[in-house]
Amino acid sequence: MLTALEFTQVPPGEQAFRAEIRDFLRTSLADYPAHKRARSWMGSSPEFSRALAGRGWLGLTIPAEYGGSGKGYFPRFVLSEELLAAGAPVAAHWIADRQSAPLILRFGTPAQREFYIPRICRAEAFFCIGMSEPNSGSDLASIRTRAQRNEQGWMLQGSKIWTTNAHECHYMIALVRTSGESSDRQKGLSQLIIDLSLPGVTVRPILDMAGDAHFSEVFFDNVQLSADALVGVEGQGWDQVNAELAFERSGPERVYSSVALLDCWMQMLREAAIDDPATIELVGTLVGEIAVLRALSLSVTRKLVDGESPAVEASVVKDFGTDFEQRLIRQIGEWLATHPDVDVPGELLRTLGYLEQMGATFSLRGGTREILRGIIARGLGLR
Ligand SMILES: Cc1cc2nc3c(=O)[nH]c(=O)nc-3n(C[C@H](O)[C@H](O)[C@H](O)COP(=O)(O)OP(=O)(O)OC[C@H]3O[C@@H](n4cnc5c(N)ncnc54)[C@H](O)[C@@H]3O)c2cc1C
Repeated sequence: MLTALEFTQVPPGEQAFRAEIRDFLRTSLADYPAHKRARSWMGSSPEFSRALAGRGWLGLTIPAEYGGSGKGYFPRFVLSEELLAAGAPVAAHWIADRQSAPLILRFGTPAQREFYIPRICRAEAFFCIGMSEPNSGSDLASIRTRAQRNEQGWMLQGSKIWTTNAHECHYMIALVRTSGESSDRQKGLSQLIIDLSLPGVTVRPILDMAGDAHFSEVFFDNVQLSADALVGVEGQGWDQVNAELAFERSGPERVYSSVALLDCWMQMLREAAIDDPATIELVGTLVGEIAVLRALSLSVTRKLVDGESPAVEASVVKDFGTDFEQRLIRQIGEWLATHPDVDVPGELLRTLGYLEQMGATFSLRGGTREILRGIIARGLGLR
């Protein structure tokens, strides 16, 4: 039986990996400035993803027969944490490694596993998530993109929106309607793997408030998919998506999105020798919160290791984590506003400026705060 402390710590044997990762990041990201680090897992560099793959650091949860290392979820947690703390540009492979490969491993056919997963582990196949559509975000069961069976496989018609990194991806795993009507809600939905280079697919990047194009609209105009595009069981897409969301919502990326700002601010405090009690208390509170959130995220990792699908617990991590990520931006901004005599480095202001633009998205992407709280309430038997 694990004690509460053991339940929320990375097992000691996994910690050696941390030093190896730090060494690599120290050299590979030596001149990478804080405002770019603040892009966190939205920052993209296919070359960097390939460098990680070259070290065998993609597919840590994937068995060796499919090109992974089979090391497991705790090493993956340690790697994710170090990459996020360093603000490494991981977007190109992030979704494929986090959820597409585990999804295909769990629900895919042997042929799909053999085709896609080794390429994910080599950073040769990047994936995006096609869930949201215009007018179907929180109300995901109302999606209207439809795939109709025909002799060659599936004919796809519709569109997706806010698809993170679609313009850099080779494939999308999309939730689409394969039978029934929108009024059938969760019934009749399926997951398909869509090759984004097929005729009839148009990917149009959307500029965000900070001027970056990290997500896209994707249009499907009579796209012919082969029969083996279906992942898992036709009509079971809703349950499969919910299993996938536990991977999406529970990781350290829901805690560390603003950590580049915290590091930058603490460096300024050290250099300017600012150590008044109120500032020390704020630093202690923020660092203490990270420790608690990290423990929560780790406890969900433990459940994933045990083969569970902790959807409610993952929602708790994401809700608390994104609240912290957003509050951190506000609190450091308020600190700067109330210390007008401090000489603030330009890089700190650039980082704060970026995060002030982007912070609002943290509690939208991956499911909004209200939707998560609804899931938590249902899990607690309150609705
Ligand atoms: C940076 C970013 C990246 C994203 N990446 C992806 C991606 O890769 N793939 C993808 O599929 N989607 C992606 N999304 C889309 C995201 O999942 C949706 O924006 C989100 O689910 C909300 O949907 P919506 O925008 O349609 O808002 P709406 O669903 O219209 O919600 C608007 C507001 O109403 C509230 N609301 C809605 N329904 C209820 C309810 N029943 N009870 C209480 N309140 C409610 C919501 O909480 C929200 O505050 C991304 C979004 C962002 C911001």
